[in-house]
Amino acid sequence: MLFICPVCREDLQRYENSYKCQNGHCFDIAKQGYVNLLTGSKGGNHGDNRLMTLARRDFLNKGYYDRFLNAIIDSVKEFAKPGDAIIDCGCGEGYYTTQIADSISNVTVAGFDISKDEIAFASKRSGKVEFAVASSFSIPVKDESADIILEIFSPHSEKEFKRILKKGGYMIMAIPLENHLYSLKKAVYDTPYKNEISDFNIDGFELVKNRPVKYTVNIDGNQDIMNLFMMTPYYYKTGKLEQARLNTLQELSTELEFSILVYKKCS
Ligand SMILES: [Zn+2]
Repeated sequence: MLFICPVCREDLQRYENSYKCQNGHCFDIAKQGYVNLLTGSKGGNHGDNRLMTLARRDFLNKGYYDRFLNAIIDSVKEFAKPGDAIIDCGCGEGYYTTQIADSISNVTVAGFDISKDEIAFASKRSGKVEFAVASSFSIPVKDESADIILEIFSPHSEKEFKRILKKGGYMIMAIPLENHLYSLKKAVYDTPYKNEISDFNIDGFELVKNRPVKYTVNIDGNQDIMNLFMMTPYYYKTGKLEQARLNTLQELSTELEFSILVYKKCS
């Protein structure tokens, strides 16, 4: 178990259907197999809203992001060693996490997300990954215990990521590039903007690899187009009139452009 007690930060041991620490803090294991380690609000239904979650799940399951997924897996394989502890921070529904765990042997993979719904779904995808409900801003993991951490379109908490990563460990991050989904934006907006790319430098880390993944997908059918739009933040920032422009669109060819950045923790 990579996760620790979120209250006293001691190790957790499994007892039947729960995890307990030596100080008696106890966390039940849900029937799907994950553990909720959020303290305070036990409801744990934060994170992306349900519409966005379902849209993303349906869209990803169609395989449109497979080339990107494979590039992520290759990046992890390139830097992982046998025995490594890999933690997917803000792993959502576990789409990347579970396929990484299935593709790389002799490593321990854990994933957490603040959304209980997403973690429940992730746990159903694979029993190989330790899944927990937790926040990126207070990660229930010991200092310097991760060899690799993944941050795939999830909230960035520099301080926590630096704390849990071993010295010499790797942070693998995915970011959208300038033209990502540009044709989708052209179909919606009168004046579409390209994405702004921020500076890649992160204090205390050395960028050791920058791997762009660029391709065009042909999206068939209005449902898939709407799902793609709904899984982006644009949908929620767009007026009804502009949203309606996609309602009758049956086919769309659009750019998918990401970069996978691999950082090594140097101090
Ligand atoms: Zn405890």
